[in-house]
Parts: sequence; structure tokens; C-alpha cells
Amino acid sequence: MSSSVFTYDAATSKPLLDEVQKRSGQNLQACYQCRRCAAGCPVGEETGVTPDRLIRLIVVGDREAALNNLLVWKCVACYTCGTRCPNSIQTARITETLKQMAKKAHVTPLTPRIADFHSAFMTSTRHLGRFNEIEALTIYETKTAIKELSQGKVKAVIDEMVGQARLAVDMMKKKRLHLGVDKVKARSEVKALYEKAKGR
Ligand code: SF4
Ligand code: SF4
Repeated sequence: MSSSVFTYDAATSKPLLDEVQKRSGQNLQACYQCRRCAAGCPVGEETGVTPDRLIRLIVVGDREAALNNLLVWKCVACYTCGTRCPNSIQTARITETLKQMAKKAHVTPLTPRIADFHSAFMTSTRHLGRFNEIEALTIYETKTAIKELSQGKVKAVIDEMVGQARLAVDMMKKKRLHLGVDKVKARSEVKALYEKAKGR
């Protein structure tokens, strides 16, 4: 959670604001802190940072807090904030932008598992043009297992594997686990969209 006091940094405020506005396509300067977004955000209470606060962190140039807070990773992209905002500011696009910026800046995420799941989701959808449970979960579980084993967290890895195996069996019994590989026809178009988004 970030401090309750905002720290204004004149040297970083404009470059940070300009970069986030350009990459997210959102006009953060239109925000007048009415907090309508905060009232509807389903994760604001647990993240300690609400959409209005995230915008303020960017406007005052607090790069460290803007890139490293729980809302960036726990935003569920429900778009409630944008629907409520009188200035149509879509914070989900801002949190997505900050994820990319944090990754590029090699900031260690506060929620590594969520960051790894996000990365696996993006890799799978880029590859097949749509989300594939088996591929994405294999990428995610392998990555987190290697990382946690290197940190000596053997029990956490075993618990995760057992939990996932049980879940898979339950889902198969209910015919809810899709084992096929579905691809979209125009996969090259999806990849091109990803490349375009990466360059923003
Ligand atoms: S609802 Fe819009 S204008 Fe109001 S605080 Fe949230 S982002 Fe800013
Ligand atoms: S899109 Fe994200 S920031 Fe906006 S209300 Fe939903 S969870 Fe909160």
C-alpha cells in the first residue's frame, strides 16, 4: 500500500503523466477527484489504492508508487470505474499500461503469482489467438514452480500441484475441463495486434 501522503516530484510528474496518457489513451488531466470510480471499484478496499488515487499518484509524478501498488495487479478490468466516471476515464486501461511499464522497468510485483498468471495468459492468447487453459496453466505452473523451488519453497510447490491436480479431476468429472486446442483462423492478425500494443 502506498503512503497516505502524496509526494510531488516536479522532475518526474510530466514525463510520467505524458507516458501513461499516451500509452493508455486516457486523459488523466480531466480527473477532478470526485471519487465516483472509487465508490464502485470491487477491489479498492483490499488494494488500498482506488482508481482516483492511482490517477493522483501519476499526476504528482510518484513513479515508484504508481508502478508498484496492488491495484495495478488486482484490477479485474470490470470497467465499473470508467462507466461511473463523468470524464470517461477508463482506469482498467491505466492499470494495464502500468503493468507493462512495471514489467519493462523490472519492478518486482507485489503479487508475483498474479503477475505470472497475467504473463501466461498473454503468452497463450498471443500464440493461439484465444485463451487455452492447458497451455496457459502449464506455462504459469512451471514458471512459478521454478521460481519458488529456487527460493526453497518446496512445500508451497507441492501444495499447489496437489491442489491443481484435485481441481483438474473435479473439473473433468463435471466435464468442465477443455482439453482441445482451439485456434482462431487469423492468428497473424492477433499477433500483429499484440505487437502494435507492445509498441505503445
Ligand atoms: S470518477 Fe473519474 S473524475 Fe472522478 S475521481 Fe474517478 S477518474 Fe477522476
Ligand atoms: S476496472 Fe479495475 S480499477 Fe476500475 S472498478 Fe474495475 S477493478 Fe476497479
